[in-house]
Amino acid sequence: MKRILFLFLDGLGIGPPTESNPFARTEYPAFRRLAFNQSWHAPFTEHVASRHVVRSLDATLGIDGLPQSGTGQGTLFTGINCANLVGRHFGPFPHSKTHAVLDEQNVFQQLRTFPCPKTPVAFANAFPPPFFDASRRRSTVTTHCCLASNVPLRNRSALVGRRAVSADLTNAYWRTQLDLDVPERTVTDAASVLASVTKDHAFTLFEYFLTDKVGHGRVDLSPTTLLSELDRFVETLLDQLDPSTDTVALTSDHGNLEDTAHTRHTRNPVPLLVYGWAAPFFANATDLMDVTPAIVDALRSTRI
Ligand SMILES: [Zn+2]
Repeated sequence: MKRILFLFLDGLGIGPPTESNPFARTEYPAFRRLAFNQSWHAPFTEHVASRHVVRSLDATLGIDGLPQSGTGQGTLFTGINCANLVGRHFGPFPHSKTHAVLDEQNVFQQLRTFPCPKTPVAFANAFPPPFFDASRRRSTVTTHCCLASNVPLRNRSALVGRRAVSADLTNAYWRTQLDLDVPERTVTDAASVLASVTKDHAFTLFEYFLTDKVGHGRVDLSPTTLLSELDRFVETLLDQLDPSTDTVALTSDHGNLEDTAHTRHTRNPVPLLVYGWAAPFFANATDLMDVTPAIVDALRSTRI
């Protein structure tokens, strides 16, 4: 069985190599390896090989203003330009004018009946107990798509049972902010769990949003510390997945963290890094609309 892991990193663009760009200040070995031996800043050279594609994607969706998570993620996870549907960039939550498209055309929905020995699609993030209190829950784009497509949201027992990964990878937020008794996890161990979840499904999504939160200055963590941890996570993933059967597709919804001179989003392009058998399906991707169709086409091609 062929598999795709979609590693979605919120708020991470390709910007000029200025003093305020953390990608220009420090080297990240796994990021460099994933980008064909180059740092994640401009000029960013595109590469197309049989199992490895490096592109940058236009995240502006042809609309003025700063791209936002609601419309950017909606577009990434459906292939439909959600900013066009709304008439502007909107976020961080999904705009009501995009709900129907998110319900009917999200990537999970498109792959829901894909033949697979186990469940064809999965969302690998773990959600803590307070999230399941519906009265307090406000759906993000990803949780909206899951609820619309009957994709289970993984809980504390999935986290403890190594069938899910927490949004911060290490479970630190669950332990210190929510005071929950869950084990600490290293980023490399979190990557091992995600690699093992990936093996069970044709399509797995993992969402990482600390990149955007640190870009907004809402988390007391330096960008280079965060990116070094994320780099180790990516390194372990690359080592544990087999490019002949697994593909990692990594991208973002808009820029933010690549410019720490301010705490707003940017209009920079976002990186698209695809490593594994499905890479050729992403060879012509130019904007956020091109990601879901490439995932669906690649997996459908494996049924022929
Ligand atoms: Zn975002």
